Amino acid sequence: MEAKQLQSLKQNNTLLCQFIVKLSAFYEGFSDKIDTELKILRGHLSGTPNFTLAAVSIDKLNKSLQHQEITLRKYSVDTISSLEDAMKQLQKIVFEDSELKALTTQELIKLNQPVTDIFSIYKLYAKAIALHRIALNKEMVGLSPVASSENDEKTSDTGEARSLKDHSPHYRSILVELNHLIASYAQKKPDDQQLNDIKQRLDEGMDEDQLLKSCVVILRMIVQDAMSEASLTGKVIQSLHRSLGEVSSDVKSTIENSQSQFEQRRAGNEKIIRHISHIEEAVSESESFERLKEQTQHCVNELVTTLSEQQNNDQQSQERLLTLLFSMQSRIETLQQQTSVYKKKIAEQAMQSRTDALTRLPNRQAYNERLEAAYSNFKAQGGTLAVAVVDIDFFKSINDRFGHAAGDKTLQVVSKFLKQHLSEDEFIARWGGEEFVMLLPETSIQDVDKKLNEIRTKLAAMPFKFKQEKVKITASFGATCFSENDTTESVFERADDYLYRAKRNGRNLVVTDLSTD
Ligand code: GH3
Ligand code: MG
Ligand code: MG
Repeated sequence: MEAKQLQSLKQNNTLLCQFIVKLSAFYEGFSDKIDTELKILRGHLSGTPNFTLAAVSIDKLNKSLQHQEITLRKYSVDTISSLEDAMKQLQKIVFEDSELKALTTQELIKLNQPVTDIFSIYKLYAKAIALHRIALNKEMVGLSPVASSENDEKTSDTGEARSLKDHSPHYRSILVELNHLIASYAQKKPDDQQLNDIKQRLDEGMDEDQLLKSCVVILRMIVQDAMSEASLTGKVIQSLHRSLGEVSSDVKSTIENSQSQFEQRRAGNEKIIRHISHIEEAVSESESFERLKEQTQHCVNELVTTLSEQQNNDQQSQERLLTLLFSMQSRIETLQQQTSVYKKKIAEQAMQSRTDALTRLPNRQAYNERLEAAYSNFKAQGGTLAVAVVDIDFFKSINDRFGHAAGDKTLQVVSKFLKQHLSEDEFIARWGGEEFVMLLPETSIQDVDKKLNEIRTKLAAMPFKFKQEKVKITASFGATCFSENDTTESVFERADDYLYRAKRNGRNLVVTDLSTD
C-alpha cells in the first residue's frame, strides 16, 4: 500500500472515530444496549483498528437502532394520545374560563399536527403541564392564569411570604384555625419542638403545601391526645367499677351476717324460753324444797350459760359488723374521691373546650353558644342585640419586629383590656388570631358606637414597650345591630364588612350602622 493511501485511511479512521464518539454522546442514556455496543465499537476502532470486529458491532448496532426506532415511534404516538386525553379533560374542567379554554384549544390543535421529532413532544408536554398548573392555581388560589406561575416563582425566589389577602378564603380560614389550635396546644405543651417550629413558620408565612402539612401534624397531636384522654377516662371508670363491686360485696356479707345473727338469736331465745318453762315446771311439780332448789339451780345455770353464749355471739357479730361498716365507709370515701376527681376533670374539660388557652377569653365555640342563646332571646322578646368584631392593626409587624412571644403577650394584654371595658352582661370571645368578637345586648347602636370609640381611643393611648421601644397598638372595629330579618351569619358578615371598611379607611377606626361612607 502506498504511503499516501495509508495516510488517507488513517485520516478517515480518525474521522470515523470522532463521529462515533459524538454519536455515542448523543445517544448516551437513550438505551443501555446501544451504549454498550457503541463502547465496544469504539474499542475496535481505537489503536490498531479491527475492521472485521467493527463490522460485526455495526451490524448489531443497526439492528438495535431499528428496534429502538420502532419503539420510539410507538412511544411518541402513545404520548401524544395521552396528552390529547389530558387536554380534553382539562377543557371539561375549565369550560367556564374562556381564556384557559382558548389556550387548551390551541394546544389540542398542535397535538393533532404531525410530530417531527422527540423534542417537540417535550415542548408539548411542558405546555400541557403549565396549563394544568394554571388551572390548579386558579381553582385553589383564585389568581389570574398567567400571573400565578410568575408569582409563585417570585415568592419562592425571594423567600418572601405572600400576604393573606392573596390567598383563597379557605387558606385564610385554615390559617386562622391553625393559629388558634397552635395557641391552645402551645399552652399545654410549651416545650414541644414540632409545635414551636410550626408556630415560627406560621409567623414567617407558609404556602399551601406547608400549611396542609402543619395541619396534619396538629391533627395527629389532637388524635393522640384524645386517645390518651380516652384511656384515662377508661381507667377512672374501671376503678370506679372495681370500688363499686367491693362495696356491693360488703353489703352482701353484712346482710348474710345479720341473717345468721338473727337465726342464732332466735335459737338462743327458744333455749331461754325452754329453760324458763323448766323452772316453772319444777316450781309446780317439786315435792321438796331441797329438790326445787336443786332443779332451779340447774335451770338457772343453763339459763346463764345460754345468755352468756348469746351475749358472746352478739358481741362477735357486732364486731364483724363494725369491721365491715368501717371497710365500707373507707371504700365509699375512695369512691367519692375518685368520682369527684373525675367530675372535676370533666368540668375542667368542658371549661377548657370553651376557653382560649392563650388569652383565657371564651373561644369561638363559647361565642357560638352564647350567640344562639342571645339570638333566641332577641327573637322571643325583641329589644336590641349588637355584634362587634375587633381586629388588631398591623399585628403581624409586632411578631416580625419583636418576636412571637411579644405578639402573644400583646394578645393577652389587649384581651384583658377589652374584657375590662365590658359590663357583666356583655360578652367577648377570641375569634381566632388577633380577632375578637363581642355581643352587646340591650344597647342602641349609638351607644355601641360611642362605647367602641372610647375603647379604641383608650387602647391607642395605652403604653406598650418592646425592647425599649415605645409601640402604639391600635385596633379596628366593625359593629352592627340585629334587625328583624337577620340571621346569626348575616349579622356577622355585616360586622366583618364594616371591619374591613375600617381597615381600608386607614385602621384605628370604628365603623357601625351609623357610618355613612
Ligand atoms: P391588619 O391591620 O390588616 O389586620 O394587619 P395584620 O398584620 O394585623 O393582619 P394579618 O392578618 O396580616 O396578620 C395577622 C398575624 O397575626 C399573622 C399571625 O402570624 C399572627 N397571629 C395569629 N395568631 C397569633 C398568636 O396566637 N400569637 C401570635 N404571636 N401571633 C399570632
Ligand atoms: Mg390584624
Ligand atoms: Mg386578622
